[in-house]
Amino acid sequence: MKLFEFEGKEIFSKYGIRIPKGEVIAKGSKARAMECVLKAQVLVGGRGKAGGIILVKENEFEKRLAELFSKEIKGEKVNIVLAESKITIQKEVYASISVNRETGHPVFLVSAQGGVDIEELSRTSPDKIIRKDVVKPGRETFVSIEKEAGVSGLADILDKIYRIFVDMDCELVEINPLAVTPDGLVAADSKIIIDDNALYRHEGWKGKKERELSDFEREATEAGLSYVELDGDIGIIGNGAGLVMSTLDLVNLYGGKPSNFMDLGGGSGQEAMEKALKILKENTKVKKILINIFGGITRCDDMARGIVAVKKTLGIEKPMVIRLTGTNEAEALQILGQEGIHATKDVTQAIKNVVSLVV
Ligand code: GDP
Ligand code: MN
Repeated sequence: MKLFEFEGKEIFSKYGIRIPKGEVIAKGSKARAMECVLKAQVLVGGRGKAGGIILVKENEFEKRLAELFSKEIKGEKVNIVLAESKITIQKEVYASISVNRETGHPVFLVSAQGGVDIEELSRTSPDKIIRKDVVKPGRETFVSIEKEAGVSGLADILDKIYRIFVDMDCELVEINPLAVTPDGLVAADSKIIIDDNALYRHEGWKGKKERELSDFEREATEAGLSYVELDGDIGIIGNGAGLVMSTLDLVNLYGGKPSNFMDLGGGSGQEAMEKALKILKENTKVKKILINIFGGITRCDDMARGIVAVKKTLGIEKPMVIRLTGTNEAEALQILGQEGIHATKDVTQAIKNVVSLVV
């Protein structure tokens, strides 16, 4: 689960990492005008480049704040803004700790050239980024990285983010920029991701996981469907997580881009199909729909009736390709055929068809 910047900073502060003085402003609430940095609290990176960070003077505070609340940053609405006192940044350092999946150890990534271009730097000059597994957590490791980076006071920060990483079961604790100021190191940003599988151990955070869901994802969850939005335009529905995963792979293999993962669940019936199709109908990202059903306990004819019913009641105009196989498949193909809905038993055929549809 991703934490907002202000939440991460509260944790930093608890562990003794210095943060700028700030105030959290919820949309619609009153705030005192001041010269400050306004920072959109959204769960996406690169806000600076996307217009989510604004330095303001006192007299323009209200206008710019309203402006920020009206924005979408990389598709995310702004509901919270952090107003922070400006700090004098002499140098921007990057420091993070995450899991090295090759070695199984926590790993520090540190660069004396941090800031908004860190991703670019990791491509063009990977040698400017120090990468060190934490095999023996302790002063020695932290100090050796501080020396290599040439950033005075860094060892202490690394010690603290290491403790946060362990205490909170994190996947990532990142400070970028860790600002070098005339008064020492200050965390000007925070990014913390808690491992979802460990959320049950963190009373205060586990209930907040749901806020990451989009409106459609929330609707799906309430209907008992497993639904995750992706970037493409082909809406996918299937019954069984493995079947849906392999359908996504096949769509990609044939050059298409799935807009979602949607699993109706095993043994599901007409009602689940109706709810799933309703979401794909309303989601404007979805331009065409592929349904892949394996009939075991689920009967293909039930599914076919569900599809026909929904197409009529909801008036779905988006083109649909259906692949059905298993229990009562012949009957299902007949039901769909009569309604002029494209259906086949052949999965490759279905996927090629949907990918090649021009909409
Ligand atoms: P991100 O783009 O989402 O990572 O947002 P950051 O919080 O890292 O802000 C982006 C950039 O804005 C930073 O790298 C700084 O250069 C600048 N910035 C943020 N806060 C301050 C501040 O208090 N003072 C100054 N001078 N610059 C800031
Ligand atoms: Mn940042």
